[in-house]
Amino acid sequence: MIIQLKPQAIPQQIEELRNYLTEHRFTTKEVNTQKGSYLIAIGKGEFDIRAIGFMDGVADIHVVSDNYKLVSAKWKVDPTEIDLGNDIVIKQGNLSIMAGPCSIEGEEQIKNTIEHLKKAGIGIMRGGVYKPRSSPYSFRGMGIDGLRLWYQMANENGIKIISEVMQVSQIEEMYDYVDIFQVGARNTQNYNLLDELGKVDKPVMIKRGISGTIDELLYSAEYVFSGGNEKLLLCERGIRTYEKASRNTFDINAIPILKAKSHLPVISDPSHGIGIRDHVPAIALASVLAGADGVIYEAHQDPRKAYSDGQQTLTFNQSLDLANNLRKVMKMRLDML
Ligand code: PEP
Ligand code: MN
Repeated sequence: MIIQLKPQAIPQQIEELRNYLTEHRFTTKEVNTQKGSYLIAIGKGEFDIRAIGFMDGVADIHVVSDNYKLVSAKWKVDPTEIDLGNDIVIKQGNLSIMAGPCSIEGEEQIKNTIEHLKKAGIGIMRGGVYKPRSSPYSFRGMGIDGLRLWYQMANENGIKIISEVMQVSQIEEMYDYVDIFQVGARNTQNYNLLDELGKVDKPVMIKRGISGTIDELLYSAEYVFSGGNEKLLLCERGIRTYEKASRNTFDINAIPILKAKSHLPVISDPSHGIGIRDHVPAIALASVLAGADGVIYEAHQDPRKAYSDGQQTLTFNQSLDLANNLRKVMKMRLDML
């Protein structure tokens, strides 16, 4: 059960509510986010919910049968919108494109990528400065100095930044230089990291775990929301299956299912989803038809020379075509509705 509190609810009223719920064998957790205050009640006790609806301080009350509550579509009428400023708003019906290299490599690469993004009309640049690599001998990223340099150049050009945060201690140092924190597939269930991201007021995009279920992704998002941050995005990036012909198995099913289960925007990552450059556009386009609110993909001026994930990285020409086609497919989807 989610009890939305009135903005002017006072501690005494909240205490009375909590006591009432405790008496009826519910445990409660108070959640305060950038947008509102909630009391989450977990339990199976029986009582007439109208009794709570009439209590002081209560704005609304929702019975949510899902085990995740705040990220569920069952209580929130309007889909979540994420406003990054400069007219860049991630929301349903407004396809958001995020593109850039797997790893930030240096000034020249950042400059070329920003030029490309501007030409393609893409407002959000992706790139890792802390890279979770399977092998410890692979390039592990430029770190905070790379992020500072990138931020300076992106900011001058009105480009927003999404970048992966791998551990709690990086949140603070990255905070001023990112517009969206990315939680990678290897960290989806790092609950300490998710708890801490609940305390920041910047958007967080959570990727689906490598072998994670759709519900597990929603639980991860619930951690961040219940920690106090409701600026959340969900990302399908493929899962590990027995199939070896592609890097991962992009789960197209996850897109409409996540959209139905949650009010959060859903982003697709076809690059990691299939892992094969020439097939990335097809999966990207399919994901938009399936209902994705945005697409994040890897692009580089010379993918063969990319420090990481070159095999799945688009050339700028491919990226330009894809961005145009994504917009066409989005328009087609909206026309079909
Ligand atoms: C990435 O975005 O480059 C990345 C490492 O992604 P994932 O966490 O999905 O593997
Ligand atoms: Mn990558």
